Amino acid sequence: MAFQFEILKKDLFSKARVGRIETDHGSFSTPAFLPVGTQGTVKSLTPEELVEVGVEAILGNTYHLYLRPGHETIGKLGGLHTFIHWERPILTDSGGYQIFSLAKLRKISEDGVTFQSHIDGSLHFLTPEKVLEIQRIIGSDIAMVLDECIPYPSPYDDVKASTSLTLRWAKRSLEQRQETDPALFGIIQGGMYRDLREESAQTLVKMDFQGYAIGGVSVGEPKSLMRSVLEWTTPFLPENAPRYLMGVGTPEDILDAVMMGIDLFDCVLPTRNARNGMLFTSIGKMSIKQAQYAEDERPVDESCACYTCRHYSRAYLRHLYLANEILSPRLNTIHNLYYYMNFIKGIEEAIREGRLLDFHKTHCSHPNGLEPEGFAHRLTTWG
Ligand SMILES: [Zn+2]
Repeated sequence: MAFQFEILKKDLFSKARVGRIETDHGSFSTPAFLPVGTQGTVKSLTPEELVEVGVEAILGNTYHLYLRPGHETIGKLGGLHTFIHWERPILTDSGGYQIFSLAKLRKISEDGVTFQSHIDGSLHFLTPEKVLEIQRIIGSDIAMVLDECIPYPSPYDDVKASTSLTLRWAKRSLEQRQETDPALFGIIQGGMYRDLREESAQTLVKMDFQGYAIGGVSVGEPKSLMRSVLEWTTPFLPENAPRYLMGVGTPEDILDAVMMGIDLFDCVLPTRNARNGMLFTSIGKMSIKQAQYAEDERPVDESCACYTCRHYSRAYLRHLYLANEILSPRLNTIHNLYYYMNFIKGIEEAIREGRLLDFHKTHCSHPNGLEPEGFAHRLTTWG
């Protein structure tokens, strides 16, 4: 499969860059945020609506699609793009995170991992080779190697053993690669231990993947530790390969990570929060169920141009939420995803125009906005 990554512009004051990723299903610009389409759908929206809010690529969960409807079925039906009517790029995770967070009775061996489905209790055995095959049959554009995700906090020796296993699995995945396969990304693990993170990054880079993901963050650790993990790992990563921070995060996390050289993000936050009535706005988060919005005629965000904000009041959205109407998660998701896509577009434009630091100041200075904590520290870590 075709895969190319090109850097178009670098920021002078941080490690941020603007780039472009080419796949067989078209290209998309980076920094990019990929909404999570867990079960072959970004919950409540059609592909046309995703395009309308500015989405260029989505993430699919291998674990969920393997269990239901099954990769063989998806393959017979023409692959995931055809099955879900999404013609643009799809990145699939390896299922590692879900096996370790959702499945029951996990048993890890050198060969792979045995687990029980969270849906019907059936037993499954996945190896790095099998996980690559599943993503191949699904027809993903960018695939991830199987990794072991270890909880935070974990003792050093456990993380060390786990990190080594993930590296051996990564090597096996590469050896199994075929010419027509999706682009394959290695996943850096190593918990919150500097030497393990460094070793993981260095070893993977020697194996020569098409991109590098940083896994095992956003697992309940303090934000400063996530920043440390980026500081430890990114210096070892090649300039000309995309870097993907898995499962992150809030807008301020994303901005921070972009400034530390990260290109790709995915997170359930905008879509999950939307379903819980929690909306992102330019002046901070808004809980739409609050009584103060009962007769509020204003849109969610007066500076937002999304479909929801153009047509509906806070009062109506509050009513839909409280009445548990199906339209509620739809309108809220449209707004939240538009907010995220617009935010990341804003980062891209700021890099292109050499005003990323100003962009950061604007988005971290509002009293209800993004958290200004650690600004001085960040100035030292971005550069
Ligand atoms: Zn809006």
